[in-house]
Amino acid sequence: MTWISPVVVIGVDAATWDVLDPLLAAGKLPNIARLINDGASGRIKSLIRYPSPALWTSISTGKLPEKHGVTDFYNATRHNIRCSTVFEILDQGRGDVGYFRWFATWPADKGAKFSVPSAVARTPETHPANLGFLNQLLQPSGARSYFIGGWQYLLHGARLKTLTRAITEIIYEIIVNPEQCDWHYRRRLIEAAIYGDVFNYLLREYKPQFAAILFFHADDLSHRYWKYREPQSFREVSEGEISKYGKVIEEAYIETDTAIGGILKSIPDDATVIVISDHGQQAGSSWEVPYRISHNLLRYLGFEDRVYMTNIGYSTSFRSQSGRDDRQALNELCVSLERVKLTQNGRSVFKIILDEPEDITAEVNFGPEIDINEIVTCAAGKYTILGDWVFSDGQLSGIHSEWGILIMKGPGIRRGYRFEDATILDMTPTILALRSIPIGEDMDGQVITEAISQDFLEEHPLQYIASYDAKDKEEQDITFSPRELEELEARLRNLGYLG
Ligand SMILES: [Zn+2]
Repeated sequence: MTWISPVVVIGVDAATWDVLDPLLAAGKLPNIARLINDGASGRIKSLIRYPSPALWTSISTGKLPEKHGVTDFYNATRHNIRCSTVFEILDQGRGDVGYFRWFATWPADKGAKFSVPSAVARTPETHPANLGFLNQLLQPSGARSYFIGGWQYLLHGARLKTLTRAITEIIYEIIVNPEQCDWHYRRRLIEAAIYGDVFNYLLREYKPQFAAILFFHADDLSHRYWKYREPQSFREVSEGEISKYGKVIEEAYIETDTAIGGILKSIPDDATVIVISDHGQQAGSSWEVPYRISHNLLRYLGFEDRVYMTNIGYSTSFRSQSGRDDRQALNELCVSLERVKLTQNGRSVFKIILDEPEDITAEVNFGPEIDINEIVTCAAGKYTILGDWVFSDGQLSGIHSEWGILIMKGPGIRRGYRFEDATILDMTPTILALRSIPIGEDMDGQVITEAISQDFLEEHPLQYIASYDAKDKEEQDITFSPRELEELEARLRNLGYLG
């Protein structure tokens, strides 16, 4: 079977030019450098109030979160997307698509050539079913879990080099018994390598016309290890730690570059390749200690069974468990949060932001001088130690920044061109334009025309249709059983999103 001009989207959560540029200059990212050289690239503006599932769905629909319906980790399923995705539009029902760990692709699409949902899927099913071994990687049981899937890795494209690394990791873990900080990043890097290998295998095996993979490791590692990369912005980072962890983020980018190199080898030369991030990453400044709200607060205030919570950077967002139209729980939570005061001086503990229709966001409302041993009072006669609710996460030193990256290479795309600022909403309209497919007028993004060659635009003028969604798809409210919620939250905690 010949394989002509596929579109392959490689998502790299949290990738920023601030890290990329020096590595490119040092020649450490040869594959990304080649794409930049042969294509168009630039920075793209994010919507950083939202967590990654919302952003990635904006990337794949060209629409704002309030239009597409995915706003956090708790409603990141296919059923929650209220409009067509770029892959559905391109594919037109042929099923010639493959998804690998892209957000909001659960439940696995049985009509696709392959469909492996993201880390926040509610159940471990994959399509085809024999890819389920990949979920073993998410179990928090240490490197030994690599071999629960055993020979499955070999059968599904894991390279000998990757397996050797995994074996070394197991030996290291057993003999050296490393600190938490150590195995965390080593493990993330190996996972990324395995995902890259298996995605490559799937590309070669199924030759889908449209495929997407999402790498999450750079986000997780940037959150936890930024202070070793930029120690001047933080207190109490030792020389030993800097020499040990100073290059972790760099390694995460190099791992991504290696995976991209493998993908480029597996696909035809005339493929359209897009590398995109949902936001950038930056240091939390030295005076700003990242206090995060812990789950205990919901328990204490009695909202544990009514509200979901997600930490994003220094903010925490809450949404009602009983659906998007139910604001009652959120209104009541607002009142309760506002009542929480420091006993000593009566200052409010939380700053509440109310501008979202479906959720509310709260931030810890104080500076660095606060002592988490302070006594706080909520409703009459109820006291506790602030530290039960908020904690300073010493591991969190990177926060999302506003500018992400976009690199595009393929037929119709200008070569070696650096475009001016675009947005994460522009990818979908731009891919449609490159395929001479009409763009939805109801999309919020625009075609990045300066990245497309003049000849191409003359031969294929932009076309528009009112919408791909005759009537907005009904969103199905997704609720969780207590066990499902527990499992999801364990995974979110592992990714650093829950306190
Ligand atoms: Zn993040």
